[in-house]
Amino acid sequence: MAAGEQSKSELLLERIFDITHELYEEMGKAGSQGNFNHFKLFGLFAELGRALVNADRCSFWKWDRRSHQLVTNAAVGTGQIVIDEGSGLVGRALREMTPIVTNDPYNHPDFNSSVDKKTGYVTKSILVMPVSNCKGEIIGAYQAINKLDSETGFDLEADSRRLSLATFICGITLESDMFLDDSERDKLTDLKNRVGFHNDYRLKWGKILNRKGDDKRVSIIMCDIDFFKKVNDTYGHNAGDAMLKHVAGILTASIRESDGAYRWGGEEFILIIPGSNIQGAADIAERIRRNIMTSVCSFEGTDIKATMSFGCAELSPELDAEENIKIADERLYRAKEGGRNRVIWK
Ligand code: GH3
Ligand code: MG
Ligand code: MG
Repeated sequence: MAAGEQSKSELLLERIFDITHELYEEMGKAGSQGNFNHFKLFGLFAELGRALVNADRCSFWKWDRRSHQLVTNAAVGTGQIVIDEGSGLVGRALREMTPIVTNDPYNHPDFNSSVDKKTGYVTKSILVMPVSNCKGEIIGAYQAINKLDSETGFDLEADSRRLSLATFICGITLESDMFLDDSERDKLTDLKNRVGFHNDYRLKWGKILNRKGDDKRVSIIMCDIDFFKKVNDTYGHNAGDAMLKHVAGILTASIRESDGAYRWGGEEFILIIPGSNIQGAADIAERIRRNIMTSVCSFEGTDIKATMSFGCAELSPELDAEENIKIADERLYRAKEGGRNRVIWK
């Protein structure tokens, strides 16, 4: 090996060791804070991929089963990109479950040039490597753009071989990210569950409450379907399930994306409304109460109707999550006692 070549290899090894060491340290840091942030890790994986194949840019894509989209979890050299599943070169690589190289992207039928048109960037070569989980199911992709040390671009065999280990580790990290997400979600309604609520409270809602200066108001709405047992008894458990999904859909559609909706248990739900005082929360709850009351849940040809009771409260930074919930829960109880299908907020 020529002297110049050797130092190039040594430089690359040093770069790889720097990044992998940072990855290792990041894991320890994240764990000790009880706040595991996979985004930082994916950023480092993307950086590692870039070093391994000497690319100008590298991005890491996650296939989002819920939204049917492909989303960049980490991208070196560009902002977050979201595309429909199956579209673009990444979609094709995932569909065909095989690495793809093109060194003439503007003439490739699957290349989407909209980002280049917007930013003025010139893409000359692309390598896409599908990423799978432990079962061999495709869950994401690595994409390297513009090979820097070769006029001819990427070499399918040589460069995908170089990316293999990073792609493999990425698959495992992405899978554990998906497991974490699943553990926070209720399978029936697709809302976040109690675990998701407590994580969000710790990482998001509780932090807003403790802000200095800014608007730190956060309100909570607890609600419960009235006489839900009767729905199960009259129409069957599957109809009850359909009603739960129907209600979850109305709740989600009635709030903003920045608000939170959770299935607290059984037929009980929690909404979190940041930036809203108690009066605002009561207005939202009243609007939802009417929406539920006037809506019908169609199940196997039968239209089923239901009402809900609501308890609202403004979260206090002096109280912990359980104590705050207790206030809303007591109001919900009074709404039930008072005859159901109503909102209690003081
Ligand atoms: P109230 O107006 O006082 O809230 O009366 P309720 O009948 O709604 O309340 P109760 O607590 O007596 O009954 C709740 C029922 O919800 C009992 C339980 O079987 C049912 N349930 C809980 N989880 C599910 C679920 O996932 N699917 C279905 N179909 N039913 C569920
Ligand atoms: Mg109930
Ligand atoms: Mg209940």
